[in-house]
Order: sequence, then C-alpha cells, then structure tokens
Amino acid sequence: MASSHTVLMRLVASAYSIAQKAGTIVRRVIAEGDLGIVQKTCATDLQTKADRLAQMSICSSLARKFPKLTIIGEEDLPCEEVDQELIEDGQWEEILQQPCPSQYSAIKEEDLVVWVDPLDGTKEYTEGLLDNVTVLIGIAYEGKAIAGVINQPYYNYQNNEKQNLRERKNEAKAGPDAVLGRTIWGVLGLGAFGFQLKEVPAGKHIITTTRSHNSKLVTDCVTAMNPDDVLRVGGAGNKIIQLIEGKASAYVFASPGCKKWDTCAPEVILHAVGGKLTDIHGNALQYNKEVKHMNSAGVLATLRNYDYYASRVPESVKNALVP
Ligand code: AMP
Ligand code: MG
Ligand code: MG
Repeated sequence: MASSHTVLMRLVASAYSIAQKAGTIVRRVIAEGDLGIVQKTCATDLQTKADRLAQMSICSSLARKFPKLTIIGEEDLPCEEVDQELIEDGQWEEILQQPCPSQYSAIKEEDLVVWVDPLDGTKEYTEGLLDNVTVLIGIAYEGKAIAGVINQPYYNYQNNEKQNLRERKNEAKAGPDAVLGRTIWGVLGLGAFGFQLKEVPAGKHIITTTRSHNSKLVTDCVTAMNPDDVLRVGGAGNKIIQLIEGKASAYVFASPGCKKWDTCAPEVILHAVGGKLTDIHGNALQYNKEVKHMNSAGVLATLRNYDYYASRVPESVKNALVP
C-alpha cells in the first residue's frame, strides 16, 4: 500500500533518523581514538574518518530509500559498497504526524536536491571543540532551501563532562537534561523544532564569525558592525544555532570558503523562525543541482534586524566579494 505521507515529509522524517545515526558515528570515531585526518586543500581544510563514514552512511541510507533524489555530499569518496552497519532505515514518527505545507504536497522525489555536510566544523572536531560540530542535511526544491535537519552530536557535552566528574566523586547522577546530542529540524511554512527560540537582548550587537578561516576582509566587515561582542566559533550549523538560541545576533562571514552544504539546512531552520540568510550583498542563495558549490560572496545571517547589519557591510568588502 502506498504511504499516505508526502515525499517531503517522509524524506525529512528519514533525514532526522539518518542525521542521528551520523551523530553516533561522529561520537564513535572520537571514542575509538583514530581520527584518520587528511588535508584537502590546505591545513585548515580537513577531512577525518568521521566525515567519510558519516557521509557514506547518510548518502547510502538516503539513496536506498529515495533512489530518484539528487544527493550532493561534501566529501569526494570512491564509489564502493557501503557496510550494512552504516545504513539507517528508521524515520522519526513525530515528523510523519505533522502536516505537509500544501505548496509542497505534490513534490516528487526527482524534484528534490539534498545537500549533505556529514560533519560541519571538522577543524574544531580535530581540536576537541566538540560542541561546535554538527551534521547537516538540507533539502532544496526549485533552487530554494525548504527543509533541513541539524544534528549536534555533542550538545550537552560540557554538562556531560561535569556529570562524569560528579560520577567519579560518587555524587548524584545527572538528570535527563544531560543526554548527549540533539536533532533540530524544520520545514518552511511549518516551523522549526528541537530547540527553544531565544533572542539576544534588544540593542545588543553580538557577532558570530569564523574561528579557523579568518581574513582581513572578515575582520573589516565584523568591525564595521560596531559589535558589543564577537564570538569566534567553528561551523556554519553551530553559528545558526547561536542565532536561534539568543547567543549571537548576526553571523558575518565576508569571505568565500563556505559551501552550499554548509548553508542549506541551517538556512531553513533560520528562515522557518523568521530569520534571514543571504550572501554579503543581500542576495538569496540558490540550491539547484547545477549551482556552483562555493558561496563566493560570503554569508550574512540574522534572526532579527537584518537591515541593521546589511546596511553596515562596507562597500570595499562588497567590491572584493563577487557572487
Ligand atoms: P567556519 O565558520 O570557519 O567554521 O566555516 C564554516 C564552514 O565553511 C565550514 O564547513 C568550513 O569548513 C567552511 N569554510 C569556510 N572557510 C573555508 C576555507 N577557507 N576553506 C575551506 N573551508 C572553509
Ligand atoms: Mg561545513
Ligand atoms: Mg564538513
């Protein structure tokens, strides 16, 4: 019997379970201790065993269930049979119970493009800044990012470290709030779930930007925002989480380097709660399968007050970043 659920909602429900599985792979590789680090283009552009295994798991699991999808993953991997142990077949029931926004109800599998960042924040992962890491699965239709899943494998990591200390001291065990990892998901027109929306206090300008891929252009642009504080952290997914949880008011990255798989899922989560993500000129990003992977004109994203930040991007910065 054919499923009564739409292709989009089935895909999001599967992507949720698949991102969770990828999160367990990311944790397992650390626990096993051999990261298998490979340099891609330079010393700050890395790939680990976790990036490779998580991508194999995500792309193979999606392709088995949805063979007509276009799936674009960050890592260049040889085509080989994937170990059955890496395949995730589950789907998150709570998502299937949600209504599909009517404008997406007739979408066919072959109309969707999935952008996969199996591990966002690899540089930070190799340095032990584990809560910077996310797994990103973004879904696009007619060039627009419409649904997305973010797994944060080490959410509550700090809490968990404390829990371990407490346990070593034979103190009480931590409560359920210390569960390691979480999954955030969203669909345009439906909303975003798995976190508590919070805003930075009114009038405060807290900028979040790159920690590992800085440049003069990035710093010039951040300085022009007249920030009260600047947070330098890893990962595009992580920075969008900071925006929706009231830790930062704008994500400013005036540089090429960030790719479509970095922005697709995070953009959906932000847009689903009324935020805005564009390049540094204010152009929307496109996610059709033929598009150039690089976000050459950088990223500007906010939950609120987008115009304040957009109006402060210096002309010199704009002129240096060609879309
Ligand atoms: P960051 O804010 O530095 O963590 O960057 C966000 C995402 O863009 C990560 O996936 C980075 O790997 C990627 N990225 C940004 N700049 C560069 C760069 N210069 N080279 C390679 N990847 C980059
Ligand atoms: Mg990334
Ligand atoms: Mg990555």
